[in-house]
Amino acid sequence: MEFDLNKKYCYYFKQISDIPRGSRNEKGISDYVVEFAKKKGYRYIQDDVYNVIVYKPASKGYEDSEPIILQAHMDMVCEKNKDVEHDFEKDPLDLYVEDGWLKARGTTLGADDGQGVAYMLAVLDDDTLEHPPLECAFTVMEEIGLFGAIALKKEYFSANRYINLDSGGEVVTCVTSSGGARAVISKDLSFEENDKNTYRLEIRGLKGGHSAGCIHLELGNGILLAARVAEELRTQFEDLRIVDFNGGMKFNAIPREADLTFVTDTDPDELQKAAKLSFDSIAQELQYSDERFYGNIIPINKAKKAIDKKQSDEILSFMYVMPNGLQHKSMAIEGLTVASLNAGVAYIKDGKFFIDDLIRSAAPSHGDIMIHQLEILCPMFNFNFSVHDRYYGWNYSKDSEMRKIMKEVLEERGVELKERATHGGLECGIFKGLIPELDIITLGPIAKGEHTPDERLDLASFDRAYGDLLEVLKRSK
Ligand SMILES: [Zn+2]
Repeated sequence: MEFDLNKKYCYYFKQISDIPRGSRNEKGISDYVVEFAKKKGYRYIQDDVYNVIVYKPASKGYEDSEPIILQAHMDMVCEKNKDVEHDFEKDPLDLYVEDGWLKARGTTLGADDGQGVAYMLAVLDDDTLEHPPLECAFTVMEEIGLFGAIALKKEYFSANRYINLDSGGEVVTCVTSSGGARAVISKDLSFEENDKNTYRLEIRGLKGGHSAGCIHLELGNGILLAARVAEELRTQFEDLRIVDFNGGMKFNAIPREADLTFVTDTDPDELQKAAKLSFDSIAQELQYSDERFYGNIIPINKAKKAIDKKQSDEILSFMYVMPNGLQHKSMAIEGLTVASLNAGVAYIKDGKFFIDDLIRSAAPSHGDIMIHQLEILCPMFNFNFSVHDRYYGWNYSKDSEMRKIMKEVLEERGVELKERATHGGLECGIFKGLIPELDIITLGPIAKGEHTPDERLDLASFDRAYGDLLEVLKRSK
């Protein structure tokens, strides 16, 4: 299989591969799309963050058809092999073909989501196609938090049908995705002089994992386990107070480790004995999910200061009761989580204690409930609570006219459409939030190794999926 530049989608893939387009560096590619639209004489919008929407009128005979949104993100993940010289701000990608796969020498290929951008440009460019009015959205900053899509306005669109071109697999279409919100839970701290013995409580050996894909696996959460052990100790040794608390790396990852420093004058042997009971219970609970878990209590140099007793108690009690992990699963799609929370990071900075939490839900109402639970709970323990970067999810619906058309198109060439459900966030959810009645499908070719220098695009599939796209458009009269 060749990379044939006579095919418009290959030609445009090559064109956009010459324009550096890492996230937050989309002005060049955005201006390229604008120039393209001008040359073709299409109406377009370029917004403040460089999203572009290009409007192509219906082909002959489709003037009365309902419009369709096509969408892909312009930014790509920039990763390279260590031994490769490549400046992602300036250098074009070095494309080559190997065994039917398109690749970029030593770097990510940007098929995620250059494939979708190339498809849209090809469809916009080709005047021989049959299709309803098209509203083609080229978004930015997808890879770093869906920020381009979040900035879109409802008035850019009149369609209530939508094809997302950022999800590959050729014979696979997504049917649901989750929304998300970052919750920041914080507490102002005051410290007091300390002359008690000091210990470090360590939580180790947990697997961790992505908070979308792994939240249903009953994995131990490092920071919540540290708080639990300390709370269980505190109920026996009342003078226990926190000095420092540190665990987790990212709000969307289940924390694998945590360190909680505390002071107490209790008998060291009694303390170790009590801690062992807690650690043993946890090991028992996690024996089939996180079998390498272990914990330690290590005596360290006396801390000069410790957190005020009441505040220290409030932190431990709050973390003991705060909702976390899987909250709801789908009864329509087996194994799918539809609502979850992940306490991802705990730390003390500038005299404040922080917990970064990621809330995910397919149905906005589930998100509302989880947010409100924390709103109720936080003040009870004198915590502050704020929500950031919220975006909506795309709840599963059994009936989809667009999915039916895609299924027919695939069946006619002898393949069965598979449905994929994710608890992760997609731009689809943001569009669903903008236009609640939106009928959504995702369509795209087979690609592998995304976000790594091993990223590659199956050229035969690139052909077939484009054919499917044209056929779906043609039948969406
Ligand atoms: Zn993507």
